[in-house]
Parts: sequence; structure tokens; C-alpha cells
Amino acid sequence: AKLTNDDVRQLCKELHVKFVRLQFTDIFGVLKNVAITVEQLDKALEGEMMFDGSSIEGFVRIEESDMYLRPDPNSFVVFPWKPREGAVARLICDIYNPDGTPFIGDPRYALRRAIAEAEAMGYTMNVGPEAEFFLFHVDSEGRPTTKTHDRASYFDMTPIDLGEDARRDMVLTLEQIGFEIEASHHELAPGQHEIDFKYSDALDVADKIVTFKLAVRTVAQRHGLHATFMPKPVFGMAGSGMHLNQSLITKEGKNAFYDPNAPIGMSEISMNYIAGLMHHIEAITAIINPTVNSYKRLVSGYEAPVYVAWSSQNRSPLVRIPAKRGMSTRVELRSPDPSCNPYLALAVCLRAGLDGIKKGMVPPPPCDRNIYEMTLAERQELGIGNLPENLSEAIKALEANQVIKEALGPHIFNRYVEAKLIEWDRYRMQVSAWELEEYLTKF
Ligand code: GLN
Ligand code: MG
Ligand code: MG
Ligand code: MG
Repeated sequence: AKLTNDDVRQLCKELHVKFVRLQFTDIFGVLKNVAITVEQLDKALEGEMMFDGSSIEGFVRIEESDMYLRPDPNSFVVFPWKPREGAVARLICDIYNPDGTPFIGDPRYALRRAIAEAEAMGYTMNVGPEAEFFLFHVDSEGRPTTKTHDRASYFDMTPIDLGEDARRDMVLTLEQIGFEIEASHHELAPGQHEIDFKYSDALDVADKIVTFKLAVRTVAQRHGLHATFMPKPVFGMAGSGMHLNQSLITKEGKNAFYDPNAPIGMSEISMNYIAGLMHHIEAITAIINPTVNSYKRLVSGYEAPVYVAWSSQNRSPLVRIPAKRGMSTRVELRSPDPSCNPYLALAVCLRAGLDGIKKGMVPPPPCDRNIYEMTLAERQELGIGNLPENLSEAIKALEANQVIKEALGPHIFNRYVEAKLIEWDRYRMQVSAWELEEYLTKF
């Protein structure tokens, strides 16, 4: 059941809440918050809390900077890592203009608009994310390193399961704040972990991803570790992805991707959706792989996708169809990484899939071979293209794509592109350790 403002007032009393954090994210998905005392709660719930939008990345100019926060009562959570007496709760907020209209630069609003479009077509989007992350040691001054407990095992006494203790604590903490954890396991690389929670509707899941990262980082810190969702922290090891398992549910509560009579049990709608994702993937990549570092993960050999193909058999392509059917029928997009803004990521995926449905797009035949092992000529023969190789290519594709541009809205689109081009330029000018190693003595 969804919580109302009255429920929130009641819960604050019962749980001895003293502080309420009003949260939202900037266009890059970075969590922002302002803490109020519980005495201000009524004012906040009425949407009267104001903040200076010009100080938030990608929001507004100084001249038009008053913004209002409208808390979503359903996002009420008490932070279990804070004291019980004088407890700290949070509410995730939508952002409104002074004239009472939703602020188009709010990423949560971009997702709400995509959800409304799906709704108009008769669908609700469900998403199950699989976020991976690394746990690293901090140095004697508390600064994060890229050393893992596994690696540090040359200190003979270092307990191997330092990370596993932290992970167990993370799972318990997440459960306390309303997550249903389905699986948690050590990932391929030393120090790398994954925690999966149960799928839910798109808005709830985007909120949960933001909360998940906060909880994981907080618990790691308490264990003296640093958790990072950076996509590729260590060269030569697997990177961290955030696979997005997606499905559409009809008004009757049926999974629109499942059709027992269709080939491999996948409905025509699901095929249109896959085709839409594949059609728009280059532009979407600018959102779901948003950093310079994201592209260091999208290389051959680490179970991260490089090529635009789909399969029900194999984990090298961009889109995989997990074997489950019935209500669990879904499409797994494997390229997203956890540095993305989850609101924008889900908004663009949904829009791409819906566009595929609207236009009746048909995907190419599935590719059930290991694509990493195919030659360029073999790939070309099958029409298998590449994902963008760097942030600059992805941004160019985004600029050229009307559907995805529309999904973001002009405000987010312009500011996002502007900021990412600067990020790319700053990176491009650097002289890296690799270059010195390669050229310093050669020339
Ligand atoms: N770490 C891989 C990635 O970058 C995924 C590995 C897996 O979950 N099978 O996407
Ligand atoms: Mg997984
Ligand atoms: Mg994994
Ligand atoms: Mg997966």
C-alpha cells in the first residue's frame, strides 16, 4: 500500500524522528539533500520547502533560482544507520517551479513523463537492476585506494572475508529499509560484489537504486572499506555493470513480453521492445554509460557488451533473454553501469522500447554465438554493430537522436550535453601513465 502524508506524520511520531532529509538528484544522479527538523514537516509535506536551484548541477541560472521540493510520502524511510532516538528519516522529492508546475530539469520528472507515455499505451514498466560494486581498502589517512582485501592477502593475517561481512551487513540494512533482497554474491573480480533486489515499477526502482548506493557506501564505511560504483576501477579486471531487467505489464496485470505460443515464448511486443532498444542504443549509451571511465568497461573479454546484438543463450551480447517465462519474462539490457542517473537511464530505455512498439520495429535474428570470438567480417555479415567506443561518440549519437532528446526534454538534454563535452575535453587533454610508458623512451 502507498503511504500518504498522514502516514508520514504518524510514522515520524511513532519512530521518534527528529530530522527529515528531503532528497532529490541532480541531472547526473548525484544525491542532494536538505535536512529539516520534524517541526517543519507539515510545511515540507505541503511542498513549501524552497531551495536555491542555481547551486545544483544542471538545474537553473541564478536569475530563476527558487525551486520547491514536493516530498513523495511513499518514499518515507528511517535510516537504520542513524541513532534510534532523534532518528533520521528521508523523503524523496519532486521539484516544482514557483508557479506550481513541475520543473522540467528534474530527472525524476523525465522518468515520470516516460512512465505516463507507457501508461497511455497501456503498460507499466517493471525493472530489476543488478548493481555491481567494488569494496576497497582505505589508506591510513582514510582515503580510498583500489586495493581489495583479496589482494591485500599478502598480509598473511588479513581475513579474506572482510568484504563478505560488509556485504551481509549491507543486505540486512537494505532489508530494514524495505528492500527485498533476492541474491547477493561475490563477483568475478577480487573485491567485487553484487546485490540484487526484487523488481518493481520504474519510479520505485529508480528511487531504490539511489537509496541502494547510499546504503552500500554507508555500510562499507562503517566496516572501514570504500564502496565504489565506478564502472572500471582496475585495468585488467572485470568492471561493474548494472544490468537492467525490463518488462512491460498490461492493465490486466499480464506480462506483455510473454506469449506461450510465440517462438521462445517471447511475444511480438517484446521483440518490438528489443528492436527499439537496439535501434536507439547509441544515443541511450550517453545516458546509461555516462562517464569517460564507462567505456573502459565496454571492452571484450569481461562479460560486458561491446556489440549490438541479442541472444537467449549467451552473455556476450547487449541484450539477453533470461530463461524464466511467465510473469518473470524479461529482457536484460547488459550495457548500463552504476555510474548512470537511474531516473534518466530508465526514462531513455523505456522511451526506446516504446518507440520500437509504436513503430513495429523488428530485431535482427538472435546471435547465439560468443561474439567476442567472431571476426569483424563475420560480424559485418550478420549486421552486428558496435556500441560507442567513448563518451564523445556517445554524445554525438545522443545529439542526433530526436526520440531520446525528447525523452530527456530540452532542459536536461542541453545541460547534460554541455557538461559531458567539457568532461570529455578535460579527459582528452590529460597525458596518461600509459602514454608515458609507451612513448617516453621510444621517441
Ligand atoms: N561485471 C560484468 C559487467 O561488466 C557482468 C558480469 C555478470 O554479472 N555476469 O557487466
Ligand atoms: Mg547478476
Ligand atoms: Mg553480475
Ligand atoms: Mg545479469
